Amino acid sequence: MSGYALLWENTGVSLMKKLIEGACQLGIELSTRQVKQFELYYQKLVEWNKQVNLTAIIDYQEAQVKHFLDSISVISVLTREEINKADFSIIDVGTGAGFPGLPLKILLGEPRIVLVDSTAKKVAFLQYITQELELGGVEIVRGRAEEIAHLPLYRQQFDLVVSRAVAKLSALVELALPFCRLGGKFVAQKKGDVGQEMRKATGAIETMGGKLNQAKRIELKGLDDERYLVVVDKIYFTPGKYPRRSGIPMRRPIQEVSKDVA
Ligand code: SAH
Repeated sequence: MSGYALLWENTGVSLMKKLIEGACQLGIELSTRQVKQFELYYQKLVEWNKQVNLTAIIDYQEAQVKHFLDSISVISVLTREEINKADFSIIDVGTGAGFPGLPLKILLGEPRIVLVDSTAKKVAFLQYITQELELGGVEIVRGRAEEIAHLPLYRQQFDLVVSRAVAKLSALVELALPFCRLGGKFVAQKKGDVGQEMRKATGAIETMGGKLNQAKRIELKGLDDERYLVVVDKIYFTPGKYPRRSGIPMRRPIQEVSKDVA
């Protein structure tokens, strides 16, 4: 048994206190198994981070809030029907060390989840950590979203597409919405002036077959910076030519639709 598990068994020292409290604020009661999974996730993240650049947030308190709690806050824009849907599926685009996808998987248990990242070292960590956490139904794909989104296995296949800290919204919707099935939704985790980002993304959202639903402000203890969940519904199919070649969505985002041009 590893050191922290012993600590847990022998002393009952409360692990992941900030996460547990924050989850309560979201109406979630984490099980002992889930808390232990988050604890293990944290330990391995810090351990790997000494060799591989995975994250700048390694402080125990901070990681609980800024990685784990922030990730699971995505469920506040999901309905009970969506979460309980038998074959509910999720894809996380540019997941890095697994955020927000893996905490969501720990929380929800059942759904099929695909984690996409273009960086080999991050993918190696994801493969390791999903085994350590004994999570089934997690698929890890190394590659660029621009290419993966054209593969039939992934194109327009997911109920929920999530992404955090990958690109500005105008570029991100081109990477993310092609994965989303009709009737599904894309949730982008954003900080700061989302109003302007959303205005600039109107053209891209429309072109990709999306419709802006809402930007929900997330207010949780310890998450003091302005955080939003920008929710886009998928209402039309994405035209086959999107996403464009790797790098193009970021370099030349689809332009904003100007409403006031006569
Ligand atoms: N979502 C994580 C990581 C953010 S860093 C978090 O919030 O902590 C951005 C990540 O996106 C990096 O790991 C990078 O490798 C990946 N990425 C950037 N552009 C990508 C693309 N076009 N396709 C796939 N992954 C991409």
